Amino acid sequence: MTGPSPRVLYITGWMRSGSTLLGNVLNEIHGVRHVGEQYYLWRNGVLGAGTNSSCGCGLPVAGCPLWAAVLAALPEGATEAVAHRMTTLQQALLRTRHTPARLAEARGERPTAPGVTELLDHSAAVYRQVAAHGGDRLIVDGSKYPAEAAALLGRTDVDVRVLHIVRDPRATALSYRGAKDYIDPMSPARSSGYWTTFNLASELVGRTAGTRYLRIRHEDLARSPREVTTRVLRFAGLDDDSPVDASGRIRLGANHTVTGNPDRLRRGVTEIRPDERWRTALTGTDIAAATAAAAPLLARYGYPLVFTRPSRAADSVRTSRPTGRPVSRTSGPPARGEAS
Ligand SMILES: [Zn+2]
Repeated sequence: MTGPSPRVLYITGWMRSGSTLLGNVLNEIHGVRHVGEQYYLWRNGVLGAGTNSSCGCGLPVAGCPLWAAVLAALPEGATEAVAHRMTTLQQALLRTRHTPARLAEARGERPTAPGVTELLDHSAAVYRQVAAHGGDRLIVDGSKYPAEAAALLGRTDVDVRVLHIVRDPRATALSYRGAKDYIDPMSPARSSGYWTTFNLASELVGRTAGTRYLRIRHEDLARSPREVTTRVLRFAGLDDDSPVDASGRIRLGANHTVTGNPDRLRRGVTEIRPDERWRTALTGTDIAAATAAAAPLLARYGYPLVFTRPSRAADSVRTSRPTGRPVSRTSGPPARGEAS
């Protein structure tokens, strides 16, 4: 390896938390490359599995000039055999229940499992190539696997910072109830069960990461996008101005994201603002189910256990889309259902 270690802002937490939009906002800064969910580079990008094999630029990942150059430059190549090996190792070593083991390795309390070293050697090689192709100042990886964040903390050849994004689980429940066709719908109780598991695992990562960990709330990002993105930039070691203007607007250009919310295909001026539809769109039963399964962590994140139903409301980053309708894709990560 030559040159400085690639700097990676690794986003963790549960799905539907706004990581795609935040990544695309940061992607507007020179030298920052949002890669989407790099975890799925092997499965969706190289193997072309599922229907979410397109890059954020609209081309198939394998046909995207950026990813073609990155993959071609990998020391061991990006053959189907390598991709199958990587996906097998991911399943065996990076599930949420593996987070404590990966953290113990990162802290040096036990030898790193050979498979972990092999897998992370490939991830680091990809990061180095992305850094050489436009991501020399920062790579934003929205993969959201706590065990992968944990394993990255143990690497000396990757300068990783872990960003944990939390969102009100009732808003997540609404997002899953009306899931777009790239993810499977999920009941409020199930969504909140995963929410709790992934957030607890992310908090564990934070204990080991120390100053390399920052937690933000989706709702704060929606209400104060310029301030919160500035905070994230400083955490990532960048002194740039936020690309979001004082009114919460940003002009989004092209990106090269592997997998993620269909919103990643959005271009043009976008306004970031709160979206609190869950408060009126969910039934009382749905809210009760989503609340009960997440109750142990709600107060910790400043979310109320009970609330008065307003005339209008809910929680999420809602963006206007003056330029075209995002194309729906299938990310289909049923592995997200593995939780424990
Ligand atoms: Zn692309």
